[in-house]
Amino acid sequence: MAGFDLHTHSTYSDGTTTPEQNVRDAVALGLDGLGITDHDTTEPYEAARAAADGTGLELVLGTEFSAELDGHSVHVLGYWIDPGHGPLVDELDRLRNERLHRARAIVEKFNGLGVEVTFARVQELAGAAPIGRPHIAQAVVEAGAAPDTRTVFDTWLADGGPAYVEKHAVTPERAVELLVAAGGVAVLAHPGLYGTRGEPGTGAVNGGRASGPGLDAEVVERMAAVGLAGIEADHPDHTDEHRARYRDLAGALGLERTAGSDYHGAGKDNQLGSATTDREVVERLRAWRRA
Ligand code: AMP
Ligand code: FE
Ligand code: FE
Ligand code: ZN
Repeated sequence: MAGFDLHTHSTYSDGTTTPEQNVRDAVALGLDGLGITDHDTTEPYEAARAAADGTGLELVLGTEFSAELDGHSVHVLGYWIDPGHGPLVDELDRLRNERLHRARAIVEKFNGLGVEVTFARVQELAGAAPIGRPHIAQAVVEAGAAPDTRTVFDTWLADGGPAYVEKHAVTPERAVELLVAAGGVAVLAHPGLYGTRGEPGTGAVNGGRASGPGLDAEVVERMAAVGLAGIEADHPDHTDEHRARYRDLAGALGLERTAGSDYHGAGKDNQLGSATTDREVVERLRAWRRA
């Protein structure tokens, strides 16, 4: 299997496998490169580097940065950023703190809905990682309220669900600006998942795929105007319509088209290496870095 899987998570955010395991599995699959994109953190870099050293696997170090628009998540992948860039470090610190407060608020919502989940257990599951909804979903499963985390999302925790609490996060344009200012390259993650995914009554969840229209082209244009370099048109949860729509949009805006699996270990069905980007596209992406 050749190419670069440009979107993966580890225990440094809401994945269940360590960066070392991800590197080992990527090498075993024969991948050329691996994107390290934990949510709102650059902490896994050292472990990933040490594991990849001498294997021939090329790491594309990055983060999946959380932005929000109209109460829904917009994720922006930032590659080759300087992990010490002040404004980015400050915003990531603020976001992780916000995640802590939000997790408490979500736990309270669950308790109000009669689900006996504790914040202490959620924190234990997250460990040192920024707390994400998957950690809370896992605690809810342990509390016996649902058979699996997918049910927890579908019933309560998806965007707009009864236990959902939005993050106070920057706009998608600001996210692009921060990542570019930090010397990185910004790529819009899974735009097809924006908004309607799993909202009660929309029938949006369709075999793990999002059937809503996705993020508006107009928002993507605004992001492109401040330096967006690419769109993750190929994502396992995208429908064929999403793939075609965002490939076309990337073409129209002169942006790169990328692919990544959004691997979360056991936290999600997505398999490592199930979506890959060609080396030539990775090289073009790298050339977007501001000199
Ligand atoms: P958070 O960063 O806390 O808003 O959580 C976002 C993460 O939750 C995503 O990266 C996915 O891992 C997971 N997630 C979000 N929506 C869903 C959904 N509808 N079904 C399953 N997992 C989801
Ligand atoms: Fe995640
Ligand atoms: Fe994401
Ligand atoms: Zn992701």
